[in-house]
Amino acid sequence: MTAYKLSDHVGNKQIAVFQRYVAGVLWYETDCTYFEFPVPADELDGASVKAREPASMFIRWIKRHMSMIEREKTAQAAPKCIGCGDPIPSGVAGYCTEECCDRFEGNNSVATETEPTE
Ligand SMILES: [Zn+2]
Repeated sequence: MTAYKLSDHVGNKQIAVFQRYVAGVLWYETDCTYFEFPVPADELDGASVKAREPASMFIRWIKRHMSMIEREKTAQAAPKCIGCGDPIPSGVAGYCTEECCDRFEGNNSVATETEPTE
């Protein structure tokens, strides 16, 4: 996969082309980098959008979708905590945090903050 930067998607007078509308979300694709991204209709605040718009107009949603993809990639690459199953960003296999490790081993000397249930 080619690693595009935000400027690759929105620069060069690139056009975002409308693809489809699904469940309140408009999907657009940039015409050169073929980057597909969702634009929730309710976030347009009543603005009118055409089938072809300058990609730079959607910079906010392109940015968001790029970081979402980046986060997913990181989450898939990271090993999972053997205590809670969360991805470990540091990449070191084991427990995600000291607290998680202590909780998992039933060490009650560690004060755990729990929300009152009532
Ligand atoms: Zn954990």
